[in-house]
Amino acid sequence: MMECIFCKIAQKETPSDISYEDERFVVFSDIRPKAPLHLLITPKKHIPTLLETKEEHKELLGEMILLARTIAQVKKVNGFKLQMNVGKEGGQEIDHLHLHFLAQSRG
Ligand code: 5GP
Ligand code: ZN
Repeated sequence: MMECIFCKIAQKETPSDISYEDERFVVFSDIRPKAPLHLLITPKKHIPTLLETKEEHKELLGEMILLARTIAQVKKVNGFKLQMNVGKEGGQEIDHLHLHFLAQSRG
């Protein structure tokens, strides 16, 4: 998946503003922010969209949402929006699963 920009970001082959990382996820700033704090919570594993997820991804999907809570604590924001665009018709531009974390303050 070397042509995937988010795989490249996860593998540090493309620079990005990473604010959190563990074995399974990388969280980085959106290059075209739509809120004062706009992060992309991204599994390192390449899964194109939510439509391709399976039962075995239950844990990963749960962790993704719980990570949003952790990010809020780290960034000290009291509220935020989560958005997932799914598929071309759902407005998804990058075919690598990710969750938008949008907050009106940078904490
Ligand atoms: P989608 O529409 O797929 O849900 O969202 C993709 C997001 O990725 C967009 O908000 C876009 O601004 C962001 N994006 C696209 N290319 C890059 C990039 O190379 N680096 C970063 N940090 N964000 C990107
Ligand atoms: Zn990818």
